[in-house]
Amino acid sequence: MLSEAKRAMNVAEIEAKSILTPTGGFLTGFSHTLNPYVGCSLGGSLCGMACYAAEMPFSSREAAPWGQSLKVKLNAASLYRRDHARVRRKGERLSIFMSSVTDPYVPQERRYRITRGILTEMVEFPPDTLVLQTHTPHVLWDIETLCRLHERCRLTVQISIETDRETLPGFPRHAYSVSARLAALRELTEVGLKTVGVVSPLLPLAEPESFATRLGEAASSVILDHYLIGDGSPDGVRTRRRKAVRDLTVPELIAAADGNDWNTLEKFDQIVKTFRTVLGNKRVGVSADGFRAMADCT
Ligand code: SF4
Repeated sequence: MLSEAKRAMNVAEIEAKSILTPTGGFLTGFSHTLNPYVGCSLGGSLCGMACYAAEMPFSSREAAPWGQSLKVKLNAASLYRRDHARVRRKGERLSIFMSSVTDPYVPQERRYRITRGILTEMVEFPPDTLVLQTHTPHVLWDIETLCRLHERCRLTVQISIETDRETLPGFPRHAYSVSARLAALRELTEVGLKTVGVVSPLLPLAEPESFATRLGEAASSVILDHYLIGDGSPDGVRTRRRKAVRDLTVPELIAAADGNDWNTLEKFDQIVKTFRTVLGNKRVGVSADGFRAMADCT
């Protein structure tokens, strides 16, 4: 599935200096972000096309294009223990978004188990709140640890699913199928974890009502976002200027795949309305407010 991305991958092992990064901007409800890796080996797949992390300064400093370089923070678990102690000594709240500029379950996690090491530390030294955000069903590797952590802190597991279509014309393939991600959400929900299906950034949907129903059956709640309001730049300029595939931008790919109305906030509002009609207002969050509500989750 990821063979093309894997062939081109440059993986390096590093010792990081710290692991908890004070946050701000889009993730204002959280005190810190936590990224077990630098870069993301899923960047060559569909989700990587509109990934704002690709436009971050650390990415442009890399020699390899986004999706072809991954640095593994070998000492992440011990750093977490140290940074956790520092935050606690100051008497500060620890509300973590993991992860903001990588995926905690890149395929290399199977070998390195960096995320697993951090979660295991968290069971002993829990944050107040943890939102674990991934694009992959591999979060199921750690379902037992997550159940233990659920007893120790406010935990939410988010899986992003930007569209209900298994393929979108003109876009690269999904790293993981829509159905596999929905099934993972369902499994996590069924063991009692709080889960969120994150439709971000919204891409053209085949059947919005049916997708809302499927997400509602699989997850505790849903967050919807659009690149025009959610890519961290004014009016989505970051997404609108980046050449994603064959010199085309994501808005151009969207327009070619299913019409330019998916590039408008009018269409986004219509989809939000549809989801709220199907699932009710309380189960549907929108953009930054939706993510902030996760940080405050109880
Ligand atoms: S998995 Fe997340 S961080 Fe990685 S490329 Fe996709 S959107 Fe970006």
